[in-house]
Amino acid sequence: MSVRSLLLLIVAVPALLLGGAAALGMTIPVPEWGRDYVLRFALDPQDAPLDLPEIEGPDDPTRPLVVIDAGHGGRDPGSVAGEEGGAQVLEKDIVLSLALALRDELLAEGGIRVALTRDDDRIIVLADRPQIARQLGADLFLSVHADSAGDRRDVGGASIYTLSNEASSEAAARFAERENAADRLNGITIEGQSEEVSNILVELSQQRTQEDATDFASLIAREGQGRIRFHPQPRRSAELAVLRAPDVPGVLFESGFVTNDADRSRLMTEEGRAEYAAVLARAIRVYFARRAEP
Ligand code: ZN
Repeated sequence: MSVRSLLLLIVAVPALLLGGAAALGMTIPVPEWGRDYVLRFALDPQDAPLDLPEIEGPDDPTRPLVVIDAGHGGRDPGSVAGEEGGAQVLEKDIVLSLALALRDELLAEGGIRVALTRDDDRIIVLADRPQIARQLGADLFLSVHADSAGDRRDVGGASIYTLSNEASSEAAARFAERENAADRLNGITIEGQSEEVSNILVELSQQRTQEDATDFASLIAREGQGRIRFHPQPRRSAELAVLRAPDVPGVLFESGFVTNDADRSRLMTEEGRAEYAAVLARAIRVYFARRAEP
C-alpha cells in the first residue's frame, strides 16, 4: 500500500466505516464505538474473567469512568526507603493512600465514575491492571507510583509517563495479529483481503489512544504547575506494560521519590496527599470536559 493511499485511508476511515464499508468488502454487523472513532476491541473470551472492582460514583453508565491503579501491593512493596528512626517507607502504601485520596476527591465533586484496581494491600499481576480497565469499559487509566533513586537522596520530584510510540506500535501490531487470527475486529467482520485495513484500524486506534494519553499527561503537568514539585524532566515515555491497553488512554504518574525527604514528607501527610489528589482530579475533570458532547 502506498503512502498516499494509506493517508487517504486514515483520513477516510471514519466515514468509510460509517458509510461505505461495503466498498472495502467489510460487513459491520454490530459496530461498537468507543471514544470518537476509536474502536473498542473485543475482549478475548479466552482471557480469564477478572475479579472486577466495584465502580463507585453516579449509577449512570454514560458518565465517564476512570480506573485508578495503585502500583504494587501485597508481597511486592515497590520502592523502599528507610525513614529516620528505622521505620521503612513502602511505595505500595504511599500510592494506595494517594489513590484513595484521589478517589475520594473525585467522588466528592461528583459526575465521574471511579474504580480502583486495588483498595487494599493485595498484589495484582501487572498485565491484569490495564485489563481491569478494559473489562470495566473505562475511559481513562491512571497508574500511581513513587520512585526511588537509591542513595541519591537529592533526586526528587514527580514525573508523568506515557507509553513510548515504539511500544505503542508494537502493542497495536500484536493486537492486530490476534484480532486477525480471530478474523474479527470488535464485531466488525473483515472479509477477504482486508488484513491491511484491519491493521490500519488497530494502528489508528492505538494512535488516537496515545494522543488522548498525551493530552491527559499535559493536563497533569499544567494543573500541577506551582502545586506539585516536578522532576526537572517531568515528561517521559517508556515501554510500560501497564499502559499497553489499545483502547484505554493511560498515564503512569510517578508522584515523587520515596528516597527524597521533601517528597516523602509530602506524600506521607494528609495535606500533601490532598494537594496531589486535587491536581490529579482537576486534570481528570478537564480531560473529560474536553471530550464531552457539546
Ligand atoms: Zn512503582
